[in-house]
Amino acid sequence: MKLIDLNRDGGIGANCHYIQLGDLKLVLDCGLHPKKTGRAAAPDFSPLRGVALDLVIITHCHLDHIGSLPILLREQPRVPVIMTQPSHMLIERMLHNSASVMERQRAEDNIPDYPLFSHDEIDRCAGRFTPLPYGHAKNFHGAHDDIEIIFHQAGHVAGAAGVEIHHKHRKLFFTGDVLFGAQRTCPAAKFPIDRFDTLVTETTRCTTERPAGKDRAHEVARLVSVINDTIQRGGSMLIPTFALGRMQEILSIVNDARKFGRLADCPIYVSGLGLDLCDYYDEMTRRTKQVNFTRQTLKDLKVRHLPRKLDPGSLPEASALYIVSSGMVVERTPSYTIAAGLAGNARNTLGFVGYCDPDTPGGRILAAKTGETFLFDELNLKTKLKAHVERFELSGHADRDELVDFATQCQPRAIVLTHGDPPARAWMGQTLAGKLPQTKILDPVPLQLYQV
Ligand SMILES: [Zn+2]
Ligand SMILES: [Zn+2]
Repeated sequence: MKLIDLNRDGGIGANCHYIQLGDLKLVLDCGLHPKKTGRAAAPDFSPLRGVALDLVIITHCHLDHIGSLPILLREQPRVPVIMTQPSHMLIERMLHNSASVMERQRAEDNIPDYPLFSHDEIDRCAGRFTPLPYGHAKNFHGAHDDIEIIFHQAGHVAGAAGVEIHHKHRKLFFTGDVLFGAQRTCPAAKFPIDRFDTLVTETTRCTTERPAGKDRAHEVARLVSVINDTIQRGGSMLIPTFALGRMQEILSIVNDARKFGRLADCPIYVSGLGLDLCDYYDEMTRRTKQVNFTRQTLKDLKVRHLPRKLDPGSLPEASALYIVSSGMVVERTPSYTIAAGLAGNARNTLGFVGYCDPDTPGGRILAAKTGETFLFDELNLKTKLKAHVERFELSGHADRDELVDFATQCQPRAIVLTHGDPPARAWMGQTLAGKLPQTKILDPVPLQLYQV
């Protein structure tokens, strides 16, 4: 296999791999960097100049995996794009939302590159999106070579897939983003128990050791008790979430707690895209049976829409629960404005339930000390950080020990590290080198060609 990591900045950003198997040329995922702006947020497609791709594979619909797809497809007018059924239901909605956000940013932030693609372009690409059910083997043919592709349930988020590829007598496996434990809204990963020649593994949480006793059930109970404590002392709580997946998961957890009388009475606010995606989850639940979330959850919780114009000085109400995007509290999102409004009061809580890049406002809040002055620079607001800051181990990504166990079980000849910050990749590389001394472990330099 020839491989080029097209994610120009490394780390977790614009995830995108070019793969060549015999004469078949593939791209796996085509993301947009969550922190960068303009064309620099897209992968570097220069190695694809003059290359006619045979296939694009999408592992799941988070923007760091699909956000640059229309740009790639503009240069590749015939290539088909395969994904799981739930991803096929979500992908257009996610891309249209991204185009709308970029249109707004072009006007508000004067980013002339934006939007990187238009709504029309998404509509034109959509005919090439093809669903492939989990567990079904599908063949693709080049002039000389054949490959077989099978998607496996990857947990993480609705529609997420690990990708198994057979080429000649070789077997490859790409984990994509994976969670081995079950969530309320989506089943656990079901990866094959098999030997693979090459494994490409995510490394998102490889700097984090799950503290003893903090299993999922414990963390769910702790989240509910922190919400109750906050409401009872007259404060409000912000739970920043990705609109896709985390938000529906947290709403389900909160709804379970309320059904069993364990949640204090409080109004619950939810932001736009996440609310809209709840409808998609409802449809996926009914049509694919691979997801578990219905609209009834919103009715049961009587969720309210955030007002369109949010101001940190006049949030809708005290003693409220805000389950809003973005998960990393990036500027110009509801979670950023609400964090700015809540941070200065010790009655309030900022509760994190997923990964935050250290360079995002969410990452900086997590690293800050109580009483430290925190600058919400986009709002020109300085505030002493007095709110409780809590981190719950409810990530949509696998624990590092689980990733090591899976890699060890695969007994691969080569492992390629991806989707992790440099220290996470370093930990995984060292640990795997100790467990699998015969295996070649590669942390690819972006844009370099490797023969794996
Ligand atoms: Zn993801
Ligand atoms: Zn990702």
